[in-house]
Amino acid sequence: MAEPELVDVVVVGLGVGGEEVAGRLAEAGLTVVGVERDLVGGECPYWGCIPSKMMIRAANALAEAHRVNELAGTAEVRPDWAPVAKRIREEATDTWDDRAAVDRFVGKGGRFVRGSGRLDGPNRVRVGDQVFEARYGIVLGTGTRPSVPPIDGLADTPYWTNHQAIEVEELPGSLLVLGGGAIGLELAQVFARFGVRVTVVEAADRVLAVEEPEASEVAAAALRADGVTIETGVKAERVSHDGSGFAVHAGERRFTADRLLVVTGRRAHLDELGLDTVGVDAGQRYLPVDHRMHVTDGIWAVGDLTGEGAFTHIAMYQAAIVVADVLDHMRRTRGGPDASGTASVMGGAAGVVSAVGGAMSAGSSGGAPGSVPVADYRALPRVTFTDPEVGAVGLTERQARERGINVQVGYTDLTASTRGWIHKAGNAGFIKLVADADQGVLIGATSVGPAGGEVLSALVVAVHAAVPVSQLRHMIYAYPTFHRAIEEALRSLK
Ligand SMILES: Cc1cc2nc3c(=O)[nH]c(=O)nc-3n(C[C@H](O)[C@H](O)[C@H](O)COP(=O)(O)OP(=O)(O)OC[C@H]3O[C@@H](n4cnc5c(N)ncnc54)[C@H](O)[C@@H]3O)c2cc1C
Repeated sequence: MAEPELVDVVVVGLGVGGEEVAGRLAEAGLTVVGVERDLVGGECPYWGCIPSKMMIRAANALAEAHRVNELAGTAEVRPDWAPVAKRIREEATDTWDDRAAVDRFVGKGGRFVRGSGRLDGPNRVRVGDQVFEARYGIVLGTGTRPSVPPIDGLADTPYWTNHQAIEVEELPGSLLVLGGGAIGLELAQVFARFGVRVTVVEAADRVLAVEEPEASEVAAAALRADGVTIETGVKAERVSHDGSGFAVHAGERRFTADRLLVVTGRRAHLDELGLDTVGVDAGQRYLPVDHRMHVTDGIWAVGDLTGEGAFTHIAMYQAAIVVADVLDHMRRTRGGPDASGTASVMGGAAGVVSAVGGAMSAGSSGGAPGSVPVADYRALPRVTFTDPEVGAVGLTERQARERGINVQVGYTDLTASTRGWIHKAGNAGFIKLVADADQGVLIGATSVGPAGGEVLSALVVAVHAAVPVSQLRHMIYAYPTFHRAIEEALRSLK
């Protein structure tokens, strides 16, 4: 058996979160081994955020061109998928090649190991025949994979996940999208705008079921206007494929299409990580972490794996905390690097801590110099990049009521705002505010509209910093912006 090789830190899974932790710790002077079995960067740059947003950008350009007819004359639009596929291949993913990302990590001083890592007892990670012993810690950032529901027949069919949908070079004539969450709706709208006949099949009674019901309504109406058929409350029971097309069966109903995209959620694969060798239960849906991302002694986790929100910004936020905490742990660990090493590393750590401190909530313990900030998800922002965009932060009205909070709700329709009225074609949207009447602060907000994700930023600040509603009411909102509708929504709080 191979002798374990002693290093400072081992990071398993170099997705968004793991890559950030590994790179920053390597830059701080630690010996860091980064283990990745697929592509460094993970889901976001190759099959997630970036290519999907390129697709959305292209689809929205088509939609804007169609709006010329209502606003500025006539425009003839002929969609062509080829430039979109080319851009994803060449600009976003380098034809799904991570050489540049590997070089970036190595350039920071990291050591890259391609392979599947698993825990092999306390402080140890095994990658094939190699075993690494981590002096200061192990960070798991292994993310999630698409969760495929146990529908009869589905596993035997050549269904698509987000990977095939992002890699597609030639569009099908028709597409069934199983799952009406954020990813399902974004991709459904893109493909519809490029002429694909799209049907979304959703088991819940509305699409975007985790968001405000008003957001579900606006999003569904927008997709329908793009020609998407939306079927809610449909529990798929069986899937069949006859060599050329798919059928989804639900009771007496049958939906057919050339292709089937399954986007019904994502799942962490804890059973692959050797968690039993460190006494952690691998039978959970996600890997629970504390407010500094600790799993257990000497082990941290970041990103989707932790189940705190499947967003790149969560992975990055957590990564900053892990970096600060690992460096803090190193400083406190006996037998750490020599004094000069410690001094240089802590110089880096102090920078990290203060940089991260700014990102922490007012209520966190991260303010004191040298202390490690803690995670606070109260003001977690989320954006569904449909057109209109659906941005949301904090609690929905229902969540707030279920917590027994004395809730006030404010609402305004964007079309009634000056900017919405000027915008005309494509102006659907609203602002909805959820306030804690006793505390006099916003605890949640939804911003739907042509720039819903951008307008959200003001509301995120309000929730994050617990800005009193009375102060928000006395702010000056530029005229005629979309975000000025926030003022009207505040006025209607009751
Ligand atoms: C279509 C789509 C669109 C999205 N759009 C957005 C968006 O607009 N905004 C946003 O914030 N988020 C978006 N997301 C979510 C975002 O991609 C994820 O939140 C983010 O990638 C999570 O990063 P992560 O580091 O936790 O995991 P991942 O990116 O999943 O990376 C985990 C890495 O670990 C590797 N790995 C797993 N097991 C092992 C092992 N045992 N050994 C070695 N390596 C291993 C995997 O190969 C992978 O590279 C989108 C996701 C999808 C699918």
